[in-house]
Amino acid sequence: MEQFEGSDFYNLDDLLTEEQRLIRDTVREFVDDQVIPCIEDCFMTDRFPLQIIPTLGELGLLGSNLKGYDCAGLDNLSYGLIMQELERGDSGVRSFVSVQGGLVMYPIHRYGSDEQKDKFLPQLASGKMIGCFGLTEPDHGSDPSGMITRAVEDGDEYILNGNKMWITNGCVSDVAVVWAKLDDRIRGFLVEKGSPGFSTTMQQKKFSLRASTTSELHFQDCRIPKANLLPGANGLGGPLSCLTQARYGIAWGVVGSAMACFDAAKKYSLSRIQFDRPIGGFQLVQAKLAEMLSEITKAQLLCLRLAQLKESGKMTAQQVSLSKRNNVYWALEIARSARDLLGANGVTHEYPVGRHMLNLESVKTYEGTHDIHTLILGHEITGIPAYK
Ligand SMILES: Cc1cc2nc3c(=O)[nH]c(=O)nc-3n(C[C@H](O)[C@H](O)[C@H](O)COP(=O)(O)OP(=O)(O)OC[C@H]3O[C@@H](n4cnc5c(N)ncnc54)[C@H](O)[C@@H]3O)c2cc1C
Repeated sequence: MEQFEGSDFYNLDDLLTEEQRLIRDTVREFVDDQVIPCIEDCFMTDRFPLQIIPTLGELGLLGSNLKGYDCAGLDNLSYGLIMQELERGDSGVRSFVSVQGGLVMYPIHRYGSDEQKDKFLPQLASGKMIGCFGLTEPDHGSDPSGMITRAVEDGDEYILNGNKMWITNGCVSDVAVVWAKLDDRIRGFLVEKGSPGFSTTMQQKKFSLRASTTSELHFQDCRIPKANLLPGANGLGGPLSCLTQARYGIAWGVVGSAMACFDAAKKYSLSRIQFDRPIGGFQLVQAKLAEMLSEITKAQLLCLRLAQLKESGKMTAQQVSLSKRNNVYWALEIARSARDLLGANGVTHEYPVGRHMLNLESVKTYEGTHDIHTLILGHEITGIPAYK
């Protein structure tokens, strides 16, 4: 198969180290070899390509920017490049890796006890265990502080009651990081598969992220050992700090979707003949392509600077909001424009564009909707919160 070239209009490759380029190229090859050949079928049949998980582990892509516990300990720019390449394959594959690393391994790494870290992190890094992150509930999405799920102490155990919805990896997980109120404080709990009173159901009939498992989690007098409370997370800041990690990965990831759509649109515009010439020779088509390349280049620059800020420990959640909001918005616009440029072929699975476009609708909504990130930025600019 022909290797994907990517877009690099501003020679950003020059700013990468040899190791970072190697990591990027390795993941690019993995996506070409193991994701692209099966992903349309996975999307059509509502299933995640589970067979790639051992390789994700072997390549060190799970929790790759975490240190110790068999994690790869990569820098944050390399982590971003990994997300970009994976999402070039499919947002569902990037979501799997984002959830595993940013929403499951990160909270255990940051807030967990030594025993929890030893027990879960190496297994999650290798892909022998799969994790999920349960924050959203049927009636509480953008405002998780209103969550209904409750935990109460009972001897050596906690008893959990409630429901979580829209949970990526839920049905296939060995461990769920579940956020619930204990004495009116939001706390994190590790709920292992098979815990009494814990069940999952698959959410179907999605038209987006179909190659990703989405589930409901149900807790009915679910009993877990007291040792499964994350000791370091106390309050809404716990889950929000995880979302900052995952949103960082999304800002990078969607550059990959946008590059895939741009690549397909560019090639199509050069091969499709109408009115006796390639459609790429028409000014209106060139305007679309020029806008795609401009927005991809701007998104890449945002990501690079964000990576530097994250690496130096100076990155703020608001800076991540700006990048997530901007890059997802433009990736979706690019996908829609590419879909249009492909004419009727754009609505088929012969090309990856329609799938990326549909996936990006979910990416725009999860991890804080576009409008919630607008409010976060509005709050930052004016000092006035406008959520309520
Ligand atoms: C495929 C998929 C996978 C997901 N995976 C996970 C997961 O793994 N774990 C998890 O916990 N969650 C997950 N989610 C849930 C996701 O994070 C929520 O859907 C998201 O936070 C939005 O919540 P909601 O759907 O309840 O929408 P709502 O919060 O009900 O929002 C509906 C609309 O109202 C707008 N709105 C809400 N409040 C305001 C306001 N104050 N001002 C202006 N507009 C407002 C929103 O922007 C949106 O347009 C996933 C969702 C999807 C689609």
